[in-house]
Amino acid sequence: MNQVSTTEPSSLEETISLLSELIQNRCVNPPGDEMRSIRTVERTLQEHGIESRVLESAPGRGNLVARIPGSGDGPSLMFGPSHVDVVPVEDPGSWEEDPFSGVVKDGNVWGRGSLDMLFIVAAQVRALIELHEEGFKPRGDLILLVVSDEEAGGALGAGWMMENHPELVRTDYSVSEAGGLSIAPGRVHFFAGEKGVARKRITFRGRPGHGSMPFGSDNAVVKLSEAVTRLSRYSPPLTTKHLGQLAEGLGLGLLQRAMLTNPTLLNLSLGRLRSRQPAMAMLLHSLSRMTVSPNVVQGGVKVNVIPERAHVDLDIRTLPGQDEEYVIARLREALGPLADEAIIEDPEGPERGFMSYGSSSPPRSEFVEAMERAIGREMPGATLVPLIVPGASDCRFMRALGAQAYGFSLFDPETPVNDLVDLAHGTNERVSVKTLELTQRVHLHLARDVLS
Ligand SMILES: [Zn+2]
Repeated sequence: MNQVSTTEPSSLEETISLLSELIQNRCVNPPGDEMRSIRTVERTLQEHGIESRVLESAPGRGNLVARIPGSGDGPSLMFGPSHVDVVPVEDPGSWEEDPFSGVVKDGNVWGRGSLDMLFIVAAQVRALIELHEEGFKPRGDLILLVVSDEEAGGALGAGWMMENHPELVRTDYSVSEAGGLSIAPGRVHFFAGEKGVARKRITFRGRPGHGSMPFGSDNAVVKLSEAVTRLSRYSPPLTTKHLGQLAEGLGLGLLQRAMLTNPTLLNLSLGRLRSRQPAMAMLLHSLSRMTVSPNVVQGGVKVNVIPERAHVDLDIRTLPGQDEEYVIARLREALGPLADEAIIEDPEGPERGFMSYGSSSPPRSEFVEAMERAIGREMPGATLVPLIVPGASDCRFMRALGAQAYGFSLFDPETPVNDLVDLAHGTNERVSVKTLELTQRVHLHLARDVLS
Protein backbone atom coordinates (compact mmCIF):
# COMPACT_ATOMS: atom_id res chain seq x y z
CA MET A 1 0.00 0.00 0.00
CA ASN A 2 1.32 3.44 -0.85
CA GLN A 3 1.42 6.40 1.35
CA VAL A 4 -0.69 9.21 -0.11
CA SER A 5 1.57 12.14 0.82
CA THR A 6 4.79 12.92 2.62
CA THR A 7 5.91 14.99 5.56
CA GLU A 8 8.01 18.07 4.75
CA PRO A 9 11.66 16.98 4.75
CA SER A 10 12.76 19.65 7.26
CA SER A 11 10.13 18.54 9.74
CA LEU A 12 11.09 14.88 9.36
CA GLU A 13 14.76 15.76 9.87
CA GLU A 14 13.86 17.53 13.09
CA THR A 15 11.92 14.48 14.25
CA ILE A 16 14.91 12.24 13.51
CA SER A 17 17.35 14.47 15.36
CA LEU A 18 14.99 14.67 18.34
CA LEU A 19 14.77 10.87 18.39
CA SER A 20 18.57 10.56 18.18
CA GLU A 21 18.99 12.95 21.10
CA LEU A 22 16.49 11.03 23.23
CA ILE A 23 18.46 7.83 22.54
CA GLN A 24 21.78 9.56 23.34
CA ASN A 25 20.37 10.73 26.68
CA ARG A 26 20.48 7.05 27.80
CA CYS A 27 17.71 7.18 30.36
CA VAL A 28 18.27 3.58 31.41
CA ASN A 29 15.87 2.60 34.20
CA PRO A 30 17.09 1.91 36.83
CA PRO A 31 18.21 4.55 37.68
CA GLY A 32 16.33 6.38 34.91
CA ASP A 33 17.59 9.95 35.27
CA GLU A 34 14.87 10.84 32.79
CA MET A 35 15.20 14.55 33.52
CA ARG A 36 17.78 14.66 30.69
CA SER A 37 15.15 13.72 28.14
CA ILE A 38 12.40 15.69 29.85
CA ARG A 39 14.62 18.78 29.45
CA THR A 40 15.30 17.89 25.81
CA VAL A 41 11.55 17.85 25.15
CA GLU A 42 11.03 21.06 27.14
CA ARG A 43 13.76 22.84 25.16
CA THR A 44 12.45 21.54 21.82
CA LEU A 45 8.95 22.82 22.60
CA GLN A 46 10.33 26.14 23.83
CA GLU A 47 12.23 26.67 20.57
CA HIS A 48 8.87 26.60 18.86
CA GLY A 49 7.11 28.84 21.33
CA ILE A 50 5.31 26.16 23.36
CA GLU A 51 5.41 26.44 27.13
CA SER A 52 5.37 23.25 29.17
CA ARG A 53 5.34 22.29 32.83
CA VAL A 54 7.99 20.01 34.26
CA LEU A 55 7.01 18.23 37.47
CA GLU A 56 9.73 16.51 39.45
CA SER A 57 8.61 13.27 41.12
CA ALA A 58 12.05 12.45 42.62
CA PRO A 59 15.60 13.80 42.16
CA GLY A 60 16.45 13.47 38.48
CA ARG A 61 13.07 11.96 37.68
CA GLY A 62 10.12 13.84 36.30
CA ASN A 63 7.31 14.37 33.86
CA LEU A 64 6.30 17.03 31.37
CA VAL A 65 2.89 18.36 30.38
CA ALA A 66 2.17 20.73 27.50
CA ARG A 67 -1.12 21.63 25.92
CA ILE A 68 -2.83 23.49 23.13
CA PRO A 69 -5.94 24.70 24.97
CA GLY A 70 -9.26 23.98 23.35
CA SER A 71 -12.29 26.26 23.07
CA GLY A 72 -14.08 23.88 25.41
CA ASP A 73 -16.82 22.48 23.20
CA GLY A 74 -15.36 19.09 22.32
CA PRO A 75 -13.54 16.09 23.75
CA SER A 76 -9.90 16.35 24.81
CA LEU A 77 -7.10 14.23 23.41
CA MET A 78 -3.77 13.31 24.98
CA PHE A 79 -0.59 12.37 23.14
CA GLY A 80 0.79 10.06 25.80
CA PRO A 81 1.51 9.11 28.52
CA SER A 82 4.72 8.47 26.62
CA HIS A 83 7.77 7.29 28.49
CA VAL A 84 11.37 8.33 27.92
CA ASP A 85 13.02 5.68 30.12
CA VAL A 86 14.52 2.60 28.46
CA VAL A 87 15.62 -0.86 29.57
CA PRO A 88 19.34 -1.67 30.08
CA VAL A 89 21.63 -3.09 27.39
CA GLU A 90 23.07 -6.43 28.44
CA ASP A 91 25.97 -6.73 26.02
CA PRO A 92 26.78 -3.59 23.99
CA GLY A 93 29.47 -5.60 22.18
CA SER A 94 26.88 -7.73 20.42
CA TRP A 95 25.32 -4.69 18.77
CA GLU A 96 26.18 -3.64 15.23
CA GLU A 97 26.08 0.00 16.35
CA ASP A 98 26.69 1.69 19.70
CA PRO A 99 23.30 1.22 21.43
CA PHE A 100 23.27 4.85 22.55
CA SER A 101 24.51 6.44 19.33
CA GLY A 102 21.11 7.27 17.82
CA VAL A 103 22.87 6.93 14.48
CA VAL A 104 20.87 6.85 11.23
CA LYS A 105 21.96 3.96 9.03
CA ASP A 106 20.22 2.08 6.20
CA GLY A 107 16.99 4.01 6.73
CA ASN A 108 16.84 3.19 10.44
CA VAL A 109 17.48 5.11 13.63
CA TRP A 110 19.52 2.82 15.89
CA GLY A 111 19.56 2.57 19.62
CA ARG A 112 18.11 1.37 22.88
CA GLY A 113 14.61 2.73 23.27
CA SER A 114 14.17 3.62 19.59
CA LEU A 115 11.21 1.21 19.34
CA ASP A 116 10.14 1.23 22.99
CA MET A 117 9.03 3.96 22.75
CA LEU A 118 11.16 6.96 21.86
CA PHE A 119 10.05 7.07 18.22
CA ILE A 120 6.48 7.71 19.39
CA VAL A 121 7.66 10.39 21.83
CA ALA A 122 9.54 12.16 19.01
CA ALA A 123 6.58 11.81 16.63
CA GLN A 124 4.10 13.15 19.21
CA VAL A 125 6.29 16.11 20.19
CA ARG A 126 6.79 17.03 16.55
CA ALA A 127 3.07 16.59 15.73
CA LEU A 128 2.21 18.97 18.58
CA ILE A 129 4.73 21.50 17.24
CA GLU A 130 3.33 21.27 13.71
CA LEU A 131 -0.20 21.82 14.97
CA HIS A 132 0.92 24.77 17.07
CA GLU A 133 2.78 26.32 14.15
CA GLU A 134 -0.14 26.06 11.79
CA GLY A 135 -2.29 27.86 14.39
CA PHE A 136 -4.52 24.85 15.04
CA LYS A 137 -7.48 25.77 17.28
CA PRO A 138 -8.81 22.57 18.83
CA ARG A 139 -12.30 22.27 20.32
CA GLY A 140 -11.05 20.24 23.31
CA ASP A 141 -7.53 20.44 24.76
CA LEU A 142 -4.68 18.68 23.03
CA ILE A 143 -2.36 17.51 25.80
CA LEU A 144 1.17 16.12 25.59
CA LEU A 145 2.29 14.02 28.56
CA VAL A 146 5.87 12.76 28.61
CA VAL A 147 6.73 10.59 31.61
CA SER A 148 9.46 8.68 33.47
CA ASP A 149 9.61 5.25 34.99
CA GLU A 150 7.30 3.16 32.80
CA GLU A 151 9.81 0.32 32.59
CA ALA A 152 9.74 -0.02 36.39
CA GLY A 153 5.96 0.19 36.83
CA GLY A 154 5.26 3.92 36.48
CA ALA A 155 5.13 4.87 40.18
CA LEU A 156 7.25 8.00 39.51
CA GLY A 157 5.79 8.61 36.08
CA ALA A 158 2.22 8.28 34.87
CA GLY A 159 1.12 6.81 38.21
CA TRP A 160 2.65 9.75 40.08
CA MET A 161 0.96 12.26 37.79
CA MET A 162 -2.38 10.55 38.24
CA GLU A 163 -2.06 10.69 42.03
CA ASN A 164 -0.53 14.12 42.42
CA HIS A 165 -1.79 16.13 39.46
CA PRO A 166 -4.94 14.46 38.15
CA GLU A 167 -6.26 17.82 36.91
CA LEU A 168 -3.31 18.10 34.52
CA VAL A 169 -3.69 14.67 32.98
CA ARG A 170 -7.45 14.14 32.86
CA THR A 171 -8.52 13.58 29.26
CA ASP A 172 -11.27 11.92 27.24
CA TYR A 173 -8.93 10.05 24.93
CA SER A 174 -5.28 9.11 25.08
CA VAL A 175 -2.90 7.45 22.63
CA SER A 176 0.31 5.85 23.83
CA GLU A 177 2.77 3.14 22.95
CA ALA A 178 2.66 0.17 20.64
CA GLY A 179 0.31 -0.95 17.94
CA GLY A 180 0.48 -0.13 14.26
CA LEU A 181 1.79 -3.36 12.78
CA SER A 182 0.28 -4.86 9.65
CA ILE A 183 -0.62 -8.28 11.03
CA ALA A 184 -2.34 -9.24 7.75
CA PRO A 185 -2.57 -7.32 4.46
CA GLY A 186 -4.51 -4.11 5.15
CA ARG A 187 -5.13 -5.09 8.79
CA VAL A 188 -3.32 -2.97 11.35
CA HIS A 189 -3.37 -3.81 15.03
CA PHE A 190 -3.86 -1.45 17.93
CA PHE A 191 -3.92 -2.09 21.67
CA ALA A 192 -7.30 -1.69 23.34
CA GLY A 193 -6.31 -3.19 26.66
CA GLU A 194 -3.63 -4.84 28.69
CA LYS A 195 -3.16 -7.73 31.02
CA GLY A 196 -2.56 -7.21 34.71
CA VAL A 197 0.47 -8.26 36.73
CA ALA A 198 0.30 -10.08 40.05
CA ARG A 199 3.31 -11.49 41.86
CA LYS A 200 2.81 -14.07 44.54
CA ARG A 201 5.02 -16.20 46.74
CA ILE A 202 3.94 -19.65 47.84
CA THR A 203 5.76 -21.00 50.88
CA PHE A 204 5.72 -24.48 52.40
CA ARG A 205 6.90 -25.38 55.87
CA GLY A 206 8.34 -28.72 56.89
CA ARG A 207 9.95 -30.23 59.95
CA PRO A 208 13.75 -29.94 60.11
CA GLY A 209 15.70 -33.13 60.66
CA HIS A 210 18.91 -34.92 59.81
CA GLY A 211 19.39 -35.60 56.11
CA SER A 212 20.86 -39.01 56.88
CA MET A 213 17.48 -40.45 57.94
CA PRO A 214 14.79 -39.07 55.67
CA PHE A 215 12.25 -41.86 56.13
CA GLY A 216 8.82 -40.37 56.89
CA SER A 217 10.20 -36.83 56.93
CA ASP A 218 8.16 -33.68 56.31
CA ASN A 219 10.34 -31.97 53.68
CA ALA A 220 9.39 -28.44 52.55
CA VAL A 221 11.33 -28.78 49.26
CA VAL A 222 9.53 -31.97 48.33
CA LYS A 223 6.15 -30.34 48.90
CA LEU A 224 7.25 -27.26 46.98
CA SER A 225 8.41 -29.28 43.99
CA GLU A 226 5.04 -31.01 43.84
CA ALA A 227 3.37 -27.63 44.00
CA VAL A 228 5.52 -26.25 41.16
CA THR A 229 4.66 -29.26 39.00
CA ARG A 230 0.96 -28.78 39.71
CA LEU A 231 1.17 -25.06 38.90
CA SER A 232 2.97 -25.67 35.62
CA ARG A 233 0.39 -28.26 34.53
CA TYR A 234 -2.58 -26.20 35.64
CA SER A 235 -4.80 -24.70 32.96
CA PRO A 236 -6.85 -21.76 34.26
CA PRO A 237 -10.32 -21.22 32.75
CA LEU A 238 -10.27 -20.00 29.15
CA THR A 239 -11.73 -16.68 28.04
CA THR A 240 -12.01 -16.39 24.27
CA LYS A 241 -13.51 -12.88 24.22
CA HIS A 242 -10.26 -11.21 23.22
CA LEU A 243 -9.42 -13.83 20.62
CA GLY A 244 -12.93 -13.39 19.21
CA GLN A 245 -12.24 -9.69 18.71
CA LEU A 246 -8.95 -10.57 17.05
CA ALA A 247 -10.62 -13.14 14.75
CA GLU A 248 -13.27 -10.64 13.77
CA GLY A 249 -10.71 -7.90 13.16
CA LEU A 250 -8.69 -10.22 10.94
CA GLY A 251 -11.84 -11.07 9.01
CA LEU A 252 -11.33 -14.81 9.55
CA GLY A 253 -13.80 -17.31 8.12
CA LEU A 254 -16.13 -19.38 10.29
CA LEU A 255 -13.82 -22.36 10.69
CA GLN A 256 -10.69 -20.35 11.42
CA ARG A 257 -12.66 -18.27 13.87
CA ALA A 258 -13.83 -21.40 15.66
CA MET A 259 -10.20 -22.57 15.87
CA LEU A 260 -9.57 -19.52 18.06
CA THR A 261 -12.80 -19.18 19.99
CA ASN A 262 -13.91 -22.74 20.73
CA PRO A 263 -11.94 -23.81 23.83
CA THR A 264 -11.31 -27.38 22.62
CA LEU A 265 -10.30 -26.29 19.13
CA LEU A 266 -8.15 -23.50 20.60
CA ASN A 267 -6.08 -26.05 22.50
CA LEU A 268 -5.62 -28.01 19.27
CA SER A 269 -4.63 -24.84 17.40
CA LEU A 270 -2.10 -23.95 20.09
CA GLY A 271 -0.59 -27.43 19.91
CA ARG A 272 -0.13 -27.12 16.16
CA LEU A 273 1.14 -23.53 16.22
CA ARG A 274 3.66 -24.29 18.95
CA SER A 275 6.15 -25.82 16.53
CA ARG A 276 5.35 -23.78 13.44
CA GLN A 277 4.71 -20.28 14.82
CA PRO A 278 5.84 -20.30 18.43
CA ALA A 279 5.53 -16.51 18.91
CA MET A 280 1.93 -16.57 17.72
CA ALA A 281 1.14 -19.57 19.93
CA MET A 282 2.54 -17.77 22.98
CA LEU A 283 0.51 -14.65 22.21
CA LEU A 284 -2.78 -16.49 21.66
CA HIS A 285 -2.20 -18.54 24.79
CA SER A 286 -1.53 -15.45 26.89
CA LEU A 287 -4.59 -13.61 25.54
CA SER A 288 -6.95 -16.42 26.42
CA ARG A 289 -6.29 -16.97 30.14
CA MET A 290 -4.53 -15.95 33.30
CA THR A 291 -0.96 -17.29 33.08
CA VAL A 292 1.25 -18.49 35.91
CA SER A 293 5.00 -18.83 35.54
CA PRO A 294 6.99 -20.23 38.52
CA ASN A 295 10.23 -18.31 38.14
CA VAL A 296 12.24 -18.27 41.37
CA VAL A 297 12.61 -21.15 43.81
CA GLN A 298 14.43 -21.18 47.13
CA GLY A 299 14.57 -23.77 49.86
CA GLY A 300 16.88 -25.50 52.32
CA VAL A 301 20.01 -24.24 54.05
CA LYS A 302 22.46 -27.12 54.09
CA VAL A 303 22.79 -30.38 52.22
CA ASN A 304 22.55 -32.60 55.33
CA VAL A 305 19.51 -30.81 56.82
CA ILE A 306 15.92 -31.61 55.89
CA PRO A 307 14.54 -28.20 54.84
CA GLU A 308 12.08 -26.41 57.07
CA ARG A 309 11.07 -23.78 54.52
CA ALA A 310 10.85 -23.50 50.74
CA HIS A 311 9.17 -21.00 48.47
CA VAL A 312 8.46 -20.21 44.85
CA ASP A 313 7.83 -16.76 43.36
CA LEU A 314 5.24 -16.65 40.63
CA ASP A 315 4.84 -14.20 37.75
CA ILE A 316 1.09 -14.12 37.22
CA ARG A 317 -0.61 -12.23 34.39
CA THR A 318 -4.33 -11.59 34.57
CA LEU A 319 -6.87 -10.61 31.95
CA PRO A 320 -9.05 -7.50 32.36
CA GLY A 321 -11.68 -8.29 35.01
CA GLN A 322 -9.61 -10.84 36.97
CA ASP A 323 -8.83 -9.52 40.46
CA GLU A 324 -6.74 -10.65 43.40
CA GLU A 325 -9.53 -12.87 44.71
CA TYR A 326 -9.60 -14.61 41.33
CA VAL A 327 -5.83 -15.09 41.43
CA ILE A 328 -5.87 -16.67 44.91
CA ALA A 329 -8.82 -18.92 44.03
CA ARG A 330 -7.06 -20.19 40.87
CA LEU A 331 -3.80 -20.81 42.74
CA ARG A 332 -5.64 -22.83 45.39
CA GLU A 333 -7.38 -24.78 42.66
CA ALA A 334 -4.03 -25.51 41.00
CA LEU A 335 -2.46 -26.64 44.28
CA GLY A 336 -5.32 -29.06 44.99
CA PRO A 337 -4.56 -31.14 48.10
CA LEU A 338 -1.50 -28.95 48.84
CA ALA A 339 -3.59 -25.75 49.05
CA ASP A 340 -4.29 -25.97 52.78
CA GLU A 341 -0.61 -26.14 53.64
CA ALA A 342 0.45 -23.43 51.18
CA ILE A 343 1.10 -19.92 52.50
CA ILE A 344 0.21 -17.54 49.64
CA GLU A 345 1.49 -13.99 50.05
CA ASP A 346 3.26 -11.14 48.27
CA PRO A 347 6.95 -11.71 47.52
CA GLU A 348 9.46 -9.61 49.43
CA GLY A 349 11.78 -7.01 47.97
CA PRO A 350 11.21 -4.03 45.68
CA GLU A 351 8.38 -5.73 43.86
CA ARG A 352 6.41 -6.44 47.00
CA GLY A 353 2.74 -5.74 46.58
CA PHE A 354 3.08 -4.80 42.91
CA MET A 355 -0.28 -5.67 41.48
CA SER A 356 -1.77 -3.99 38.48
CA TYR A 357 -5.17 -4.98 37.24
CA GLY A 358 -5.81 -5.70 33.61
CA SER A 359 -7.84 -2.99 31.93
CA SER A 360 -9.35 -2.23 28.56
CA SER A 361 -11.12 0.44 26.55
CA PRO A 362 -13.89 -0.30 24.02
CA PRO A 363 -12.44 -2.23 21.04
CA ARG A 364 -14.87 -0.34 18.83
CA SER A 365 -16.00 3.24 19.43
CA GLU A 366 -16.27 6.62 17.73
CA PHE A 367 -12.70 7.30 18.76
CA VAL A 368 -11.46 3.96 17.39
CA GLU A 369 -13.14 4.90 14.11
CA ALA A 370 -11.21 8.18 14.16
CA MET A 371 -7.96 6.24 14.69
CA GLU A 372 -8.95 4.03 11.78
CA ARG A 373 -9.55 7.05 9.54
CA ALA A 374 -6.13 8.44 10.54
CA ILE A 375 -4.45 5.14 9.58
CA GLY A 376 -6.53 4.97 6.41
CA ARG A 377 -5.17 8.30 5.19
CA GLU A 378 -1.71 6.71 5.02
CA MET A 379 -2.80 3.17 4.08
CA PRO A 380 -6.01 3.51 2.09
CA GLY A 381 -8.59 0.89 3.02
CA ALA A 382 -6.74 -0.38 6.10
CA THR A 383 -8.82 -1.51 9.08
CA LEU A 384 -7.87 -1.68 12.75
CA VAL A 385 -7.68 -4.92 14.74
CA PRO A 386 -7.90 -4.73 18.56
CA LEU A 387 -5.43 -6.65 20.72
CA ILE A 388 -4.67 -6.89 24.42
CA VAL A 389 -1.01 -6.29 25.42
CA PRO A 390 0.34 -9.24 27.43
CA GLY A 391 2.31 -6.81 29.66
CA ALA A 392 1.36 -3.75 31.70
CA SER A 393 1.53 -0.21 30.25
CA ASP A 394 0.89 3.34 31.39
CA CYS A 395 -2.51 3.26 29.66
CA ARG A 396 -3.96 1.68 32.79
CA PHE A 397 -3.45 4.93 34.72
CA MET A 398 -5.39 6.88 32.11
CA ARG A 399 -8.20 4.33 32.15
CA ALA A 400 -8.37 4.62 35.93
CA LEU A 401 -9.01 8.36 35.43
CA GLY A 402 -11.83 7.59 33.02
CA ALA A 403 -10.07 8.01 29.66
CA GLN A 404 -10.33 5.72 26.68
CA ALA A 405 -6.65 4.85 26.17
CA TYR A 406 -5.09 2.99 23.26
CA GLY A 407 -1.75 1.89 21.88
CA PHE A 408 -1.50 3.71 18.56
CA SER A 409 1.22 4.17 15.94
CA LEU A 410 1.81 3.10 12.36
CA PHE A 411 4.65 0.91 11.18
CA ASP A 412 5.88 0.75 7.64
CA PRO A 413 3.70 -2.11 6.29
CA GLU A 414 6.88 -3.77 4.98
CA THR A 415 8.13 -4.31 8.54
CA PRO A 416 8.40 -8.04 9.32
CA VAL A 417 6.38 -8.65 12.50
CA ASN A 418 8.63 -11.44 13.79
CA ASP A 419 11.76 -9.25 13.70
CA LEU A 420 10.08 -6.66 15.88
CA VAL A 421 9.31 -9.14 18.62
CA ASP A 422 13.07 -9.68 19.00
CA LEU A 423 14.11 -6.05 18.62
CA ALA A 424 12.08 -4.32 21.34
CA HIS A 425 14.20 -4.66 24.52
CA GLY A 426 16.62 -6.72 22.35
CA THR A 427 19.91 -6.41 20.52
CA ASN A 428 20.18 -3.98 17.57
CA GLU A 429 16.95 -2.21 18.49
CA ARG A 430 16.12 0.24 15.70
CA VAL A 431 13.17 1.87 14.02
CA SER A 432 12.77 2.78 10.38
CA VAL A 433 12.58 6.42 9.39
CA LYS A 434 9.48 5.49 7.40
CA THR A 435 7.76 4.24 10.57
CA LEU A 436 8.75 7.42 12.40
CA GLU A 437 7.27 9.53 9.63
CA LEU A 438 4.05 7.50 9.38
CA THR A 439 3.54 7.64 13.13
CA GLN A 440 3.95 11.41 13.21
CA ARG A 441 1.48 11.75 10.34
CA VAL A 442 -1.23 9.56 11.87
CA HIS A 443 -1.01 11.61 15.08
CA LEU A 444 -1.55 14.78 13.05
CA HIS A 445 -4.53 13.26 11.23
CA LEU A 446 -6.01 11.97 14.48
CA ALA A 447 -5.76 15.31 16.31
CA ARG A 448 -7.24 17.26 13.38
CA ASP A 449 -10.08 14.71 13.09
CA VAL A 450 -11.01 14.40 16.78
CA LEU A 451 -10.43 17.99 17.86
CA SER A 452 -11.83 19.98 14.89
ZN1 LIG B 1 7.39 0.94 26.53
